[in-house]
Amino acid sequence: MIFIRIVSLPILLLSFAVTFVSCDHDKDASQMAAQAPATAAPTDAPLPKLSLPADSGPPPAIDSARAMQYVKEIVAFGPRPIGSANHKKVEDYILAHLKGDEVAFDAFTADTVEGRFPVRNIIAKYPGTKDGIIVIASHYDTNYPLRDTTFVGANDGASTSALLLEFANQIRGKKLDGYSIWLLWTDAEEAVKEWSDSDSLYGTRHLATQWQQDGTAKKIKAFLLTDMIGDADLDIDRDSNSTPWLESVVYEAATRLGYQSHFFARVNALSDDHLPFMKLGIPSADIIDIDYGYNNVFHHTPQDTVDKLSPKSLEIAGCTVLEAVNILDKMDPLPPK
Ligand code: ZN
Repeated sequence: MIFIRIVSLPILLLSFAVTFVSCDHDKDASQMAAQAPATAAPTDAPLPKLSLPADSGPPPAIDSARAMQYVKEIVAFGPRPIGSANHKKVEDYILAHLKGDEVAFDAFTADTVEGRFPVRNIIAKYPGTKDGIIVIASHYDTNYPLRDTTFVGANDGASTSALLLEFANQIRGKKLDGYSIWLLWTDAEEAVKEWSDSDSLYGTRHLATQWQQDGTAKKIKAFLLTDMIGDADLDIDRDSNSTPWLESVVYEAATRLGYQSHFFARVNALSDDHLPFMKLGIPSADIIDIDYGYNNVFHHTPQDTVDKLSPKSLEIAGCTVLEAVNILDKMDPLPPK
């Protein structure tokens, strides 16, 4: 991974530093540019100002202690790289928490430079009253090259997989007044050898193609990706590879909850599971903190353990995502795709 500080400038009353850094993902800036969508030269342009509904309803809540318990339980399975027995156990664990919910799968075999692996995206669907879908996603696999280490991805994969389970608890059985919500546990996000266009995002690249072919993509109003947001020192990036207006909504959601100081003090260009959906024109936002430990030192190391996380961070990120959904539900019309 390289980390280049380009310039810093004031935007949105904050001081933004523009940096280029790869999310997961150990690749250099030129690779990143090649992977980014057509318009995605990292930009420090101010986020668009939107006319947003003043009232987004009562503020959301989650049980962050329960979410943290899920993190611990997922991590307790050990490393869960694709193709492993632990991976299967975590699939079963997720499904056990979705009993009675409408669950769909996108299962296939991925051809990789390390061989062929079964891949399974898991989608839990909760119907709303408005026509359209908001997807909230997290990957659940752990980094394959670290498969023979003690790497358990407490932050990188487990924190957000757990958060989605808690979202399911909050949504389940309620009449959703807005769009349908689909919770998506993506698989094989990680590279098996070295991050590149062809060695990464196996699950979401396949799913995006499926959703394009079966017409689902047209119905998706927003794709909210969560990644690495359990860090006790939470500083979520503004991602210039995400849809600017949706980033504005996320920032507004954080502001309404009083959490804005944890958001968007840096601008990065991130390569993550949102890119295959961005390429289809689906408004997408990667909600990620890519500064995990000083200089991101815990990322993709066996030091990515539960003691670095906090329930408060899960709450900040989780409630912000749900508040963003509340705002989106009341935005009529949404900005054009
Ligand atoms: Zn990772």
